[in-house]
Amino acid sequence: MVKKLSEDELKDLAKEVIGDELYPLVILLQGRKNVSEVKLAEKLKISVNNIRTLLYRLNSFNLVHSKRKKDKKKGWYIYYWTFDSVEARNLLYNSKKKRLDYLKKKIKNEAGSEFFICPNKDGVRLGFESAMEQGFKCHECGSLLERDDNAKLLKKIEKEIKDLEIELKEEEDRKKRDEELAIKREESKIKRARAKSRAKRASKKKGSSKKQTRKSIRKKTSTKRKAKSKPRTKKPPSKKATKRAIKKRKTSSKKSKIVSKRKSSQKLRAKRKIVKRPSLLKKIIKRKK
Ligand SMILES: [Zn+2]
Repeated sequence: MVKKLSEDELKDLAKEVIGDELYPLVILLQGRKNVSEVKLAEKLKISVNNIRTLLYRLNSFNLVHSKRKKDKKKGWYIYYWTFDSVEARNLLYNSKKKRLDYLKKKIKNEAGSEFFICPNKDGVRLGFESAMEQGFKCHECGSLLERDDNAKLLKKIEKEIKDLEIELKEEEDRKKRDEELAIKREESKIKRARAKSRAKRASKKKGSSKKQTRKSIRKKTSTKRKAKSKPRTKKPPSKKATKRAIKKRKTSSKKSKIVSKRKSSQKLRAKRKIVKRPSLLKKIIKRKK
């Protein structure tokens, strides 16, 4: 909620931006919603047409929004108006800022130079160079110009600058607070919505083990991910290694062949020995029987 403008602020707004004629209307509109233009006309004691003209002027500053509704009895449209305080504050702020810039330039100009005025107060005020060009004579009445003591004016400008700076700072602080409040409100809204949907989900899944299955799925996928991310510990065998392996196999087969050959030759030798010694042969035959 934007703070309403004070009467002084509305007066400033009227004087500096929208014009004094709109002040009474703004006073009637501020802080209310959808005010009927018929009622506004009645209160200001002017015709509906005239109130519409004023309202359109306000609308040209984006200070009012309207809704229209058909009057069931009379059959024509009636407009309902709402004053925009945010826009009003922005307008006032910007106009104050402009004024501040202007005063700052003016004070620089005033403090750094001399001015000459006509003693007859016909509004003539000239800088040093222009006054000299005219021979220090007033171009309106011909009187001799006098040096203007602008000390009072300087003080007045200084005060206005200070006041404006304070007012602008207040407005900036207020705006910041409003924005922070709006953010907080939005955050709590989101939190509430989340809590609500969580509660809804919880009530739907009452008794079911969906939560657990979901957890286990999450676990599975996470382990999968881990496995994917881990570099392979077993490298594919290099060409050299395969060659080595083949060699090994070959040699081992050769070795086994050699061994078997050796074994058979040993048997043969043993047989021969037996043949050589008939006594042993007899013994063996006996055992076999
Ligand atoms: Zn004069």
